[in-house]
Amino acid sequence: MAAVQGGSASEDKSPVVCVFCGSSPGKDPVHLESAQILAKSLHGAGYKLVYGGGTMGIMGEVAKTLVSLSGPSSVRGIIPRALIRTEVDSSIRHGTNSSKVERTMSPEELQRIDSNEDPDSKIVPANEFGATTIVPDMHTRKRMMAQCVEAGGPGSGFVALAGGYGTLEEVMEMVTWNQLGIHMIPIVLVNVNGYWTGLLDWVKNSIREGFVGEGAANILVEVKSADEVVEALRQYKLAPGRFKLDWSK
Ligand code: AMP
Repeated sequence: MAAVQGGSASEDKSPVVCVFCGSSPGKDPVHLESAQILAKSLHGAGYKLVYGGGTMGIMGEVAKTLVSLSGPSSVRGIIPRALIRTEVDSSIRHGTNSSKVERTMSPEELQRIDSNEDPDSKIVPANEFGATTIVPDMHTRKRMMAQCVEAGGPGSGFVALAGGYGTLEEVMEMVTWNQLGIHMIPIVLVNVNGYWTGLLDWVKNSIREGFVGEGAANILVEVKSADEVVEALRQYKLAPGRFKLDWSK
């Protein structure tokens, strides 16, 4: 991906946010509430959303809430082919044989997905969750999500709500791409109820121990509530310690 100039985005384009968050709802309802608060403020500020696709957990909640407010054209989910099957059969996701089937899909539909005949599958209902794009693998998904954000107007960026391994990996990869100069896109961490304090402490410790430079401390910006996200994206300042590398060749 070519490096982008955050400030050069066209003023008349809608800003685009990519939200990383759990495919599970979490145990504390505060996290689903944060998803709703974020979607409401994105709606109020005229944002479009790109996310990892699907209907589940906090991911599904952000998408569903924004679609209910701004309409299906405001949301795009990008999901790898393997993961779309977890939308159909939760036993795949939980590694059990007994979990209930959450959606039904005929063998013909499964065959169509597996044979790549229908890249824009309608398994995830567009009127509830926006447009779904099916991609072959995780790397394609991440690259496409980042490209959607790059193409957005001023104020575009990445946001992380609470989540598990997947969320952590996604947000930290975008932090490393920022540090390496691959992109200049803001990254905001929503630290509700101290959910991400362990990660923020790790950053501080890594600076103390000399593995992260002080100038890279603020690549990841913390907010305490989802309704602070839009302002944090708009006010985001590039960290001075980013590497000045040329990725254009
Ligand atoms: P986690 O934080 O571990 O729940 O991971 C969130 C990430 O999980 C997403 O971005 C996906 O990579 C992956 N994921 C797991 N299940 C699903 C699903 N049903 N739909 C979309 N993404 C999923």
